[in-house]
Amino acid sequence: MSASTGTLYIVSAPSGAGKTSLVKALLDAQPQVRVSVSHTTRGIRPGEVDGVNYHFVSREDFLDRLKRNEFLEHAEVFGNLYGTSQRWVEQTLADGYDLILEIDWQGAQQVRRLMPQAKSIFILPPSAEALRQRLTHRGQDSEDVIDTRMREAVNEMTHYVEYDYLVINDDFTHALADLQAIFRANRLLQPAQQQRFGALLEQLLA
Ligand code: 5GP
Repeated sequence: MSASTGTLYIVSAPSGAGKTSLVKALLDAQPQVRVSVSHTTRGIRPGEVDGVNYHFVSREDFLDRLKRNEFLEHAEVFGNLYGTSQRWVEQTLADGYDLILEIDWQGAQQVRRLMPQAKSIFILPPSAEALRQRLTHRGQDSEDVIDTRMREAVNEMTHYVEYDYLVINDDFTHALADLQAIFRANRLLQPAQQQRFGALLEQLLA
């Protein structure tokens, strides 16, 4: 049996808030933290690797997995299906790792219902202008496409009140330090420390 069970974190953000880069930097700095690789039916983007960014599957494969109850949560986002493997989440937490789910607000609501002990973090961009700029890819998109992305981002952001923590990604280094502080403080919570330092507590109180 492992000495302690990890904490489950939900991280959500509108696209353009810098969530993926922040989570990657956090993982690089904290070896005891893992991120869940979701299954998705969306097409693979240039630079993405199957099994690393996502498990890219067909709609049929996804629906089969859904029928077999393989997903802890799932949601349709912008016409594509996304889901988190329940078995992998349970195993990783049992192994003592903290685990991040990078999921949208719909998935976050499902996970909170099933695992109320999960901590949730919402990442916001520093301003509407900065967000619009980040959603404009190399000036190749029409105003309409950018307006649609902005509306989708605002829709996601209306859910920030459902989250335990709010991080503003103005300065990357500062936002990363905020994220690290959340993880560190949670590891210091008394029940977690009691699990970790059971032998010490026993000796001190003998
Ligand atoms: P993208 O396709 O741009 O990587 O992600 C689109 C949206 O889907 C993001 O908001 C992302 O957080 C969300 N997402 C990615 N994986 C999952 C998942 O497994 N479950 C849910 N509910 N949302 C996900």
